[in-house]
Amino acid sequence: MIRAGSPSVKGKLPPVLTLETPVQSLKGVGPRRSALYQRLGIATLRDLLYHLPKRHEDRRTFLPIAQLEPGQKGTVRGQITSTSLFRAKTGTLILQVVVKDDSGPLTALWFNQPYMRRWFPAGAEIILYGTAERIGKKVQMAVPEFEFIPKEAAGKVHKSLHMGRVVPIYPATSGLHQRELREAVAAALKALWAGALTADPLPPEIRGRHRLVDFRTGITQVHFPPAPEAVAPAQERVTFEELFCFQLALGWRRSRLKERAGIAHAVEGDWVERWKEALPFKLTAGQQKAMEEIAADMAAPRPMHRLLQGEVGSGKTVVAAFAVVVAAQSGSQAVILAPTEVLARQHALTLSQILAPADISVGLLTSSLEEPARRRLAEELAQGTLQVLVGTHAVLEPWVKFARLGLAVIDEQQKFGVEQRKALAAKGENPDLLILTATPIPRTLALTLYGEMEISTIQEKPVGRQPVRTLWMDSTRREEVFAFVRAELDAGRQAYVVCPRIGDQPGRGLKKDLFAEGTAAAQSVLKLFEEYQQIFSGYRVGLLHGRVKPEEQRKVFAAFKRKEIQVLVATQVIEVGVDVSNATVMVVEGAERFGLAQLHQLRGRVGRGQHEGTCILVCDPNESSSARIQTMVETADGFRIAEEDMRLRGPGELLGKRQAGLPDLKCLQWATQGPWLETARKEADELLARDPHLADPGLAALRREVFLRFPQLTGQSA
Ligand code: ADP
Ligand code: MG
Repeated sequence: MIRAGSPSVKGKLPPVLTLETPVQSLKGVGPRRSALYQRLGIATLRDLLYHLPKRHEDRRTFLPIAQLEPGQKGTVRGQITSTSLFRAKTGTLILQVVVKDDSGPLTALWFNQPYMRRWFPAGAEIILYGTAERIGKKVQMAVPEFEFIPKEAAGKVHKSLHMGRVVPIYPATSGLHQRELREAVAAALKALWAGALTADPLPPEIRGRHRLVDFRTGITQVHFPPAPEAVAPAQERVTFEELFCFQLALGWRRSRLKERAGIAHAVEGDWVERWKEALPFKLTAGQQKAMEEIAADMAAPRPMHRLLQGEVGSGKTVVAAFAVVVAAQSGSQAVILAPTEVLARQHALTLSQILAPADISVGLLTSSLEEPARRRLAEELAQGTLQVLVGTHAVLEPWVKFARLGLAVIDEQQKFGVEQRKALAAKGENPDLLILTATPIPRTLALTLYGEMEISTIQEKPVGRQPVRTLWMDSTRREEVFAFVRAELDAGRQAYVVCPRIGDQPGRGLKKDLFAEGTAAAQSVLKLFEEYQQIFSGYRVGLLHGRVKPEEQRKVFAAFKRKEIQVLVATQVIEVGVDVSNATVMVVEGAERFGLAQLHQLRGRVGRGQHEGTCILVCDPNESSSARIQTMVETADGFRIAEEDMRLRGPGELLGKRQAGLPDLKCLQWATQGPWLETARKEADELLARDPHLADPGLAALRREVFLRFPQLTGQSA
């Protein structure tokens, strides 16, 4: 065990430690401790050193308790004088721990964790960090972070890893505490500098150009900065290094992909011409440009890897159809993967209409397709008589085989992972790949997420489309919401009512009991359905959610399309791709529980016809959500919303599932604060242009680092 309070490592370490050495080689980290480290994703010293602090606390001085500002976070240090446990009227068990310093007492509170009482012996010295509140003259801190001061340090101005300095606070796990993590990090740093590893992976000229501190300073001070001002330069250094290596790995991968043989499709020809002439509308400039970019990719004898970004309603389908026509004209088959059955059906319908002039046959495959039809489909695909297949994830099944797959399109990429993308592409020999996404992502993130792809963007929407009006109403104004919906229904239009998914947890930062009090947000879709049925008794109200069987979903949806149902109460199952132009109102109940990007997607469902669309966000003002809701009211620009979403929620949450399959970037949250992503991309491109295999002996450390960090991308191990 590394002794608490000891800044140095006791005992002997193996002579040569590297970043790849298992944490177990640190003194005191045995099999049991290392299981805890595993929970934090820490197996090696590298993992440990890149388990970065979530923040730092300036413990060179502590605030006197009497000077704590209500509502402000602060760190205090004092002595425990008493503890007590009582039950509040609501039934909650409250643990009170009174801590005193020279300026006065403070009461720290914990809820429903009576066993914690024995953790706080009277007389012990403790550090508390949290938000202070004042109740009368009493100072309180609910659920503060805490750390005990060991007896030998009690009362002293003690300089150690934990006090009298700027201290790192890590994401921890139960049983593995701040002190132990700090000790381990310090031990790892010390062992590394004693060992062989000193080479800085970053070339000196790049370091100089961006004024980056050296490797040793960076990795040391990102944990233990001598002063708060030293944190940022250290973070910049580790961030840049990670991103630079990442972009080098992506560049490496792009070059390897380009070396593959693909299909050189014939881009010009009768079918394309006939098809273009038969289009019922004039293409927007963005659509045209995207088509040109796709044409160039498809004509080249290399596989296309292209992402098409465009907001809901920007007309991506017709661009994808263009790619399909190009493929079919050259004798290739195409497959289109859609995230839901409803959407697949809709695509199959739209595509067979727009592809009819070019004589292209379209088949549909969903999991509900039954035997004889399935066998027939398999045969047509294997023989190449069916040119286009549209489907849900069922198209990924092994029995689906193509005679000559030349194009794979994935709609609504965010619903699929990297694995599914690969599985689809594997059904052909390096087919061209086109990926559609309606979720605008900030450019900086696109460089990361889709670094191995080229990107086309459709900025504008077809002319004549009016932006959706967005209103925010709190739950006291539901009568107004109903009146608004009724007026639209009376005028012959239709409405969507959306609420969070069944069983969804409240969003981050919101307390569960806020919902238990009966705001609309807490109501399940079923209750909401009943309520709307009552209020709109003169109309037909339909219900759609994830637990409704696909066949039933299809019926309900078809009825809504035929206007037999006027109000559709649903969860986010309708988030993607649903296109009913007569629907003009979208009511989002419990809007605070949706992400900005989701809300933006949802409101894109209305205003798709000649009538103006309105989106009503129903939720009560709330500290954690008001800013987001206000953004929705103010802007219709998907890219601005994406930037804002990233700013408010951090890139991790924004990426969510999309990050699955991507390397785990440790510094992403810092990366998006500055120009680092773009700078790293630029430097990486320049370096690879000069030295595509990083063969220069001076780059040995860098090359090794790139391979070590991103083996999946480079296909190399160091
Ligand atoms: P999304 O980008 O959301 O997939 P779609 O491809 O579904 O958008 O297009 C939305 C609607 O706009 C469709 O009804 C489509 O027919 C129509 N549309 C597409 N391009 C144009 C255009 N250039 N002019 C007019 N309408 C268009
Ligand atoms: Mg679409």
